[in-house]
Amino acid sequence: MNKNSSNTMALAPNTSNKRETVCIFGTGDFGQALGHKMIQSGYRVVYGSRSTQISNLIPKDAEVLGHAEAAQKAAIIIIAIQRQHYNFLTPLAEVLRGKVLVDISNNLKLNQYPESNAEHLAQLLPGCKVVKGFNTVSAWALQSGTLDASRQVFVCGDDVEAKQMVMNIVRALGLTPLDKGSLLAAQEIENYPLQLFPMWKFPIFLSLGLTAFFFLYCVVLDIVYTYIYEKKDFSFFIAITIPNRVCPVMALILLALVYLPGIFAAIIQLYRGTKYSRFPDWLDKWMLCRKQLGLIALAFASLHAVFTLVTPLRAFASWRTGKGIISQVLNNKTEPLDHTNAWLSDSYLALGILGFFFFVLLGITSLPSVSNNVNWREFRFVQSKLGYLALILCTAHTLVYGGKWFLSPSAYKWYLPNIYILSLIVPCAVLVVKFVLIFPCIDKRLTQIRQGWERNPKYSK
Ligand code: NAP
Repeated sequence: MNKNSSNTMALAPNTSNKRETVCIFGTGDFGQALGHKMIQSGYRVVYGSRSTQISNLIPKDAEVLGHAEAAQKAAIIIIAIQRQHYNFLTPLAEVLRGKVLVDISNNLKLNQYPESNAEHLAQLLPGCKVVKGFNTVSAWALQSGTLDASRQVFVCGDDVEAKQMVMNIVRALGLTPLDKGSLLAAQEIENYPLQLFPMWKFPIFLSLGLTAFFFLYCVVLDIVYTYIYEKKDFSFFIAITIPNRVCPVMALILLALVYLPGIFAAIIQLYRGTKYSRFPDWLDKWMLCRKQLGLIALAFASLHAVFTLVTPLRAFASWRTGKGIISQVLNNKTEPLDHTNAWLSDSYLALGILGFFFFVLLGITSLPSVSNNVNWREFRFVQSKLGYLALILCTAHTLVYGGKWFLSPSAYKWYLPNIYILSLIVPCAVLVVKFVLIFPCIDKRLTQIRQGWERNPKYSK
């Protein structure tokens, strides 16, 4: 069969339920899983294998032939074989000339080879049209049908028609093709399955580090200090009291860290008088993981809400309430309602509830299914304006709650400030600088810079 006739056959409109024949080289795990899925979707599948003996694992409607014979039956050949065995394809160069070869291979390490596996295949067989695809889908997911998390199939290749043929197969299998451009993108696509939450690394390590620091800080001040100076054992604070101090502190600091890089970026742009010069790498990376920082902050805020709700159920809380009542009974004196305290406690609760509400709203709008349905202006309004509102409300919540302690000497055990004082440093700094940045004279200059104005233009107009 010559190359033109096979390609025309593959592109011909489908008038029956049966689709064209696709060849798969390799009867291993992926070859079998893909073959099953293709047969279910109406394709004829012919395997090219080193052994033509049919095993139970091969789909029963598929044919198994030698490589050369199988290749002649289809215009598209899926290479379900590890890269290190690609050399066996060179003697088949003539049979494969003009065919579309789909490279689905992955590596064991990031950037394992100087060139991508797909480019290597294209160099071995220059007469073929190589397309990269399917490597981000696992054999297990294909076979079990649990493809919800990996429905997207990244496809790239230099031949547009060949790429289109592969994308049609992807669609026919119920998956979503995503065109990543030319074969140069193959290295990036091959690296995807090896990445482990790349955007989450910095936020997770930062959160773990800060959480450990604040937890130990509270253990020292609330348990060790009290034990040494008051001979009281409050070690049970480790279960709820301390986590309920650390969680809001972490939520507030991480929320402020979502907005801090934007403040740095604005200061850098004002200082340089241009937007046409790159931010430092650390700032670029920080900007890219703001969503993750925000979501971790939301998780801490949610934990804080749950810990607060269970507080009245604690033995310590009922003991303290009972102690207060008994002391009033023993002294035969009813404490009058302290209106200042009542106002403070109601206000900080109201601020906390409102702050949490906007926090949740930010989290919801960052979900792809929601953010895909709002335009850029709406998204910016929620993430920036409502985000700052959430930060103001949460900072006020902490200030009203902890404000009375800040000036009290008892808040400075071993000269160390209370954890709430520490938690307010970054958010207050962010809010104060943001307040300065929205002064009309500064805001106007920043807007001009972001619209392309330069203080010292490099290229004269
Ligand atoms: P596998 O189970 O080891 O199967 C590979 C097949 O390659 C073998 O069954 C064999 O088929 C053929 N083969 C082995 N040595 C050969 C040689 N020296 N010359 C010619 N053919 C040879 O591997 P797999 O898991 O199916 O993976 C195949 C490819 O798909 C790999 O590149 C992998 O990175 C990629 N991939 C796999 C998955 C997955 O979930 N498994 C997911 C995405 C991508 P015959 O005996 O029929 O010749």
